[in-house]
Amino acid sequence: TPQVSANGQVVAAETFAPTATGVMMNLGDPELVDKYSSLPADGIGLMREEFLWTTYIHEHPLYLIEQGHPEKVVDMLASGIAKVARAMAPRPVVLRLSDFKSSEYRKLKGGEKYEPNEPADLLGWRGASRYYDSKYIEAFKLELAAVKKVRNEYGLKNLNVMIPFVRTVAEAQKVTDIMQDEGLIRGEDFKVYMMAEIPSNIILADQFNKFVDGYSIGSNDLAMLILGCDRNNDTVASLFDERDLSIKRAIRHLIKTAHKDGKTVSICGQAPSEYPEFTNFLIQSGIDYVSVNPDMVKETKRNVAHFEQRIMLDKATGRGLNDPVDYDWK
Ligand code: PEP
Ligand code: MG
Repeated sequence: TPQVSANGQVVAAETFAPTATGVMMNLGDPELVDKYSSLPADGIGLMREEFLWTTYIHEHPLYLIEQGHPEKVVDMLASGIAKVARAMAPRPVVLRLSDFKSSEYRKLKGGEKYEPNEPADLLGWRGASRYYDSKYIEAFKLELAAVKKVRNEYGLKNLNVMIPFVRTVAEAQKVTDIMQDEGLIRGEDFKVYMMAEIPSNIILADQFNKFVDGYSIGSNDLAMLILGCDRNNDTVASLFDERDLSIKRAIRHLIKTAHKDGKTVSICGQAPSEYPEFTNFLIQSGIDYVSVNPDMVKETKRNVAHFEQRIMLDKATGRGLNDPVDYDWK
């Protein structure tokens, strides 16, 4: 439907030029994908699996398994994932495997039975640490079965996955081994990413490289862990800043180290959604994609196009960049 201005004139739809730096979108509620799929995003850089559970399933995976309904989990997950992958196709969708904290799992039906009561659950049993744990691995295999179903039965090969909160290289090895055993083989048409959201991910990026196709920077957790600042604690909120120099240097190190082995780097934390100028820093640092909230997709796409053009002009004229953001990581 054409857009109409206040005085009744038809307004030409804005066209968005392709950009060298991909602009992706973060998706929470899968039910909103139809509303957002027409945005000029190059794909979904972060689809949070937790929303599938809270939107469609409501029950703890181990509870469902114990009740004898593992196929119910696979079917429900698969249909939610397929809805998103279909709406976005042929653009890529990166599904992040489960990263519930134990307090969040406890809210699902049956959850209290299976979950520890962790006082600092942001630092507890979450992300990759669950996947190879004998207490959770059967549930993880259901997540993988859903991914396989979407790719193989529904034929939606634009679906890729991401592993959250990987603390050690040994964890990356264990989790990718399980994925391979379950028939999810990393290759040209199936990419496996990991979140870069723990300082160890950056410090040892040269060792993580061989297990993944690329990274997506989780600046929310990364800022918490580099600055030692609980992301949910109002008392220290003024110290929580994803643009801190320490984080900028970490990001630059990651991009450099990843690119040495041909791995891509994206970002799906809140930093570029909250601070649009941060995207300029990321582009200058060589980032491959930025993934922002749906309400920031158009603005980001415009900004990226504009900034890339400015870099080209500056190069052509030999002027060089002179915005303060250009130098403040040093
Ligand atoms: C992050 O940590 O930046 C991130 C995107 O993941 P979450 O906010 O879900 O922990
Ligand atoms: Mg995170």
